[in-house]
Formats: sequence, C-alpha cells, structure tokens
Amino acid sequence: MPANAVIPPTHPRYRSLLEREKVVEGAKEGYVALQGLIAQGRGECFDYLIGEETQSFAMKAMEAAAAALLLAKHPVISVNGNVAALTPREVVQLAEAVPALIEVNLFYRTREREEKIAEILRRHGAVKVLGVGEDASCTIPELFSERRRVSCEGIYKADVVLVPLEDGDRTEALRRMGKTVIAIDLNPLSRTAQAASITIVDNVTRAMPKLVEAVKAMKALDRGQLAQILERYDNKKTLADALRHILKRLEQLANSLDPRNA
Ligand code: ATP
Repeated sequence: MPANAVIPPTHPRYRSLLEREKVVEGAKEGYVALQGLIAQGRGECFDYLIGEETQSFAMKAMEAAAAALLLAKHPVISVNGNVAALTPREVVQLAEAVPALIEVNLFYRTREREEKIAEILRRHGAVKVLGVGEDASCTIPELFSERRRVSCEGIYKADVVLVPLEDGDRTEALRRMGKTVIAIDLNPLSRTAQAASITIVDNVTRAMPKLVEAVKAMKALDRGQLAQILERYDNKKTLADALRHILKRLEQLANSLDPRNA
C-alpha cells in the first residue's frame, strides 16, 4: 500500500512520515540498506532541531553548490538507496540542468541494490547511470572493502561530486583526492558535514528541488561571477550559522515553555 494511503494529509507530521515510509518501502524492496533507516531517523532528529524548513545558511550553501557544479569540468551526482527513495526525480532534473553524470554509490554495495537503484533512476528519466557492476571498478585510495569502489568514468574522474547523504570516511577520502565535495546533511556535526567543501544543512527532499532551481537560475551568470560566489563562500561559517540557529531556536523554545518566564 503506498504511504500516502495510510497517513492522512492532515497529520501535523505528514511530510516527515511520508518520507519515512518511502525509505521503509525502499528497505522492503531491497535497495535501501537497514542502516539507511537509522540514517533517516538521525536526519529526522536534526530536522526537528532546525525547524523543518530550509534556513538561510542552507540557501547560501546551495548558491555556492550551484556555482561549483556549473563551473565543474566533470561533475557527478552520487546516489545511494535513501536518495533513490526520497528524491529520484530531482537527481535526474539536476543532472540534466548542470549537466552532470549520475552514479550509484553505495556504502553497502550489492549488485542487486545497484541495479534496483539504477532502474528507479531510469524510470525517472535518467539515460545513463554509472556505478553498476563492473563499471564500479576504480578504487578510492585509503578506503577498504566495497566502500572504495567507484566508476572510473564517474566519481573517480570527477572534480566536483555532489553526495546527498554520505559517510565521513568517504567524504574525507574524496577531499584528499582533491575533489570539491558538496554534501547535503541535516547534521552540522557529522564528519561528512565537517569534511565537505560545501555543506547544505537541510533535508535532501527540500534541498534537491531548490538546488535544481538555483542551477537553472545561475546558468545566466558568467564564469567570473560564478567563481566570485564560490570564492566568497566559507563552509565553516555555514556550519557555525547552522549550530547558532539550533542554539537560538532551542533557547527560544525553552523560554516559551518555562513557567518562570510567565
Ligand atoms: P558521519 O560518518 O558523516 O559522521 P553518520 O555516521 O552520522 O555520518 P550516517 O549514518 O553515515 O551518519 O549518515 C546519515 C547522515 O545523513 C546523518 O548525518 C543524517 O543527519 C543525514 N541524513 C539522513 N537523512 C537525511 C535527509 N533526509 N536529508 C538530509 N540529511 C539526512
């Protein structure tokens, strides 16, 4: 039964519950790893803290991300099970808008999961999907087991990689390879968020459509203007702003609850 058939749209947490159901559905269909369910839960927790809305620090990071993607020689969008479950359409739209390559990139790699994710992306209009089977035959140095496998045509060669939902080790390894890494991660404290070149602290379901729009709008800018946006961007400031936002919000919420303030 589709998730929207069981959750009434009037439910105050409709959107969040619908997204949770999509990830659960992906796990049942075998392309979201069980660990992906835990990741979603952790994301939900930080979304609560942020206020479940895209904040200005995320918009700023998105602008820098769009500039980096448009300036890139070889941009690649990395897709895991959660991303395939949550925003497959926007992955394809973004790939078309930049244009960028799409690669299935899994922490817990199996041929079956790779193929299922590629199939979902194709169903949403992707023409070419890298990172399936033998295509993922290059390796990221310093990583072990299946986690290090990437496409030689894709992430291995990329100068800019968008990793909506990634783990810290791989983000660090990609940075060490000299790549610009754009992460979308609700947790500003995660190692991924800290190691990425540009961190969009937002829900992937809100950030991806906005990123598509930003890329489309910024295509009108020349390379000099894009480079200037990128030069002015400071990811440490973004992370600090995200943490300050949470701090301020919690302080306000605590004050509004506290009977001693009445
Ligand atoms: P790291 O290795 O970077 O410290 P982690 O171990 O905290 O990561 P993982 O389980 O590898 O986390 O990945 C999940 C990350 O993705 C978490 O930081 C979580 O906040 C984030 N996340 C999960 N769902 C979403 C979502 N829908 N949108 C944005 N971020 C999300």
